[in-house]
Amino acid sequence: MRHPVVMGNWKLNGSKEMVSGLIKGLDAALNGVEGVDVAIAPPVMYLDLAEQLLSKANSKIILGSQNVDLHNNGAFTGDISPAMLKEFGASHIIIGHSERREYHNESDEFVAQKFAFLKENGLTPVLCIGESEAQNEAGETVAVCARQLDAVINTQGVEALNGAIIAYEPIWAIGTGKAATADDAQRIHAAIRAHIAEKSEEVAKNVVIQYGGSVKPENAAAYFAQPDIDGALVGGAALVAESFAAIAKAAAEAKN
Ligand code: PEP
Repeated sequence: MRHPVVMGNWKLNGSKEMVSGLIKGLDAALNGVEGVDVAIAPPVMYLDLAEQLLSKANSKIILGSQNVDLHNNGAFTGDISPAMLKEFGASHIIIGHSERREYHNESDEFVAQKFAFLKENGLTPVLCIGESEAQNEAGETVAVCARQLDAVINTQGVEALNGAIIAYEPIWAIGTGKAATADDAQRIHAAIRAHIAEKSEEVAKNVVIQYGGSVKPENAAAYFAQPDIDGALVGGAALVAESFAAIAKAAAEAKN
């Protein structure tokens, strides 16, 4: 039985005041919500503050981060190591987000190396995969997702996916309000799971696959009603406590 995971990617948004208000509001709005793991990935600058607030509130919200480097120390100006993330209580680390693939030229191989380094350091990779609008229109969605996944599977073995999270995020749906239909998302999720099952049915059965791309309180329940959609990676709607909590509640209701 897969446990749903709803994660908020705050991207480059925040201030001390906003982080504090959002975490307090979210923790209160999630009171009594069971059966879903809820994680947030604030900008790394605010992890310390977030960790303090979460531990003071004895909150069940999981702390995450939006990126990681391939080293634990050394001459790597501007980078953040797994060891540092762990020291501030972050466990779920987003890698391969399309914004990093596009704006920072992160290749499938580079993302796969990050995946391996996170696992080596006992952290949970949240591996984003997904196709561009042109690839979607060319019917290449499943092939693109398979290629991005294979960068991990072919170098680390399919078992490396155990305990990790995959986030299927069609790039054309991210931040655009143009979400994939629940049926289309289900079809791709099933294809991703089938691709993994070619190597191991057990791993495929257990791996959490989130949908991401313009998930809102209004459309969340339709995604979570699908058998292969195990949660969501949420951008814009994660910046409003009530909206993000409503999405988490929809996951809890649909999956339990
Ligand atoms: C994201 O950034 O991962 C994302 C899914 O954003 P949004 O929910 O705003 O589309």
